[in-house]
Amino acid sequence: MGPTRMNVSYVPVSLVGDSVARREAVLLAAYAMHSSDSAGRKHPEDVHAYRGPFARDRDRIVHSAAFRRLSCKTQVFMGEMGDYHRTRLTHTLEVASIARTVGRALRLNEDLVEALALAHDIGHPPFGHAGEDTLDACLANDGGFEHNRQALRIVEQLECRCCTHSGLNLTYEVLEGQEARAVKGSGERSPLLEVQVVEAADSVAYDTHDADDALEVGLLELGELLEVPLWREAAVRVRGRFSDLETSEMRRAIVHELIDWQVGDLLENSLRRIRHVGVDRVEVVRSVERLIGAGCELAEAKEALEQFLYNRVYRHPQVLKTRQLAQDSLQQMFEGYVARPQLLPEKFRRRIASDGLPRAVGDYLAGMTDRFARVTFQRQFGG
Ligand code: MG
Repeated sequence: MGPTRMNVSYVPVSLVGDSVARREAVLLAAYAMHSSDSAGRKHPEDVHAYRGPFARDRDRIVHSAAFRRLSCKTQVFMGEMGDYHRTRLTHTLEVASIARTVGRALRLNEDLVEALALAHDIGHPPFGHAGEDTLDACLANDGGFEHNRQALRIVEQLECRCCTHSGLNLTYEVLEGQEARAVKGSGERSPLLEVQVVEAADSVAYDTHDADDALEVGLLELGELLEVPLWREAAVRVRGRFSDLETSEMRRAIVHELIDWQVGDLLENSLRRIRHVGVDRVEVVRSVERLIGAGCELAEAKEALEQFLYNRVYRHPQVLKTRQLAQDSLQQMFEGYVARPQLLPEKFRRRIASDGLPRAVGDYLAGMTDRFARVTFQRQFGG
């Protein structure tokens, strides 16, 4: 019998074909999560001829409805603020791209890194964190709402790919990795390095692109950002290579510099910690402090940028105004569906008996894209 997660036993099955196991034995570091060591899936499956278990997980995530819907979900800026800025999907792809680069350089399991990265924000409701806060308040008496936990609900219960069981039947390692995001800091064991890399890549991506998007939509001027140490230092580095850049060229060059600088620093510091601790297998990764992260100096500079973004961008009156409108509509829809559950689609009506009405309504609303939420609000509630 394999390990247990949420009282469910996972059956270690032969998940890996010979070619995948041989390839990983050559390419991956000893501290990486090798597919042949996976704890398996809740429902055993046959070995695939040429895809390993984490590659199959990645593909299931990409082919899920929840993943497709990320294209019309807010990252920070909503649709009416132009068409330059990141959506939840493009943010996810940037995270996956950065995480793969870091994972490959550290000789980690890239398939697992990619699966985790593509799933990491799949539980976000419409309207970004504004939507999340509203659903959390609406479900306060029923367990609340948090996007990382919702991601687990989606891949374990709400998505459907097979008629014999619900969910995507992902591997233990992908589920455990997503769970580590939901209960951050409270686990006895450190997450796998592949999980830690995705978390670090998420931070590299949003620290960079949220500022870039805020410049594009006109909430900030480049001059203001250059007062923040991280941007100022990146600008110095760019000017050392190019002179006389126009403002837009300068901005693009700084964004590239910021990603490159953060990734380089992440690799250097993470490798130093891995070597210092002498990590030579997954059991050691789990038993020591987290090893993947920026150096102290850059971590401090990132924190200052995050504080700046919080005060000047996430709390900008224009952002707060669209946030309020979105929250009002979502709350009215929640109350409307609870009062008239017959308006829910059949799939969610069927869940009322097992999950309760508020959770079924929450799941339906959380799955909506921004656009679908707006249209549905107008159509069913005359908003
Ligand atoms: Mg993210």
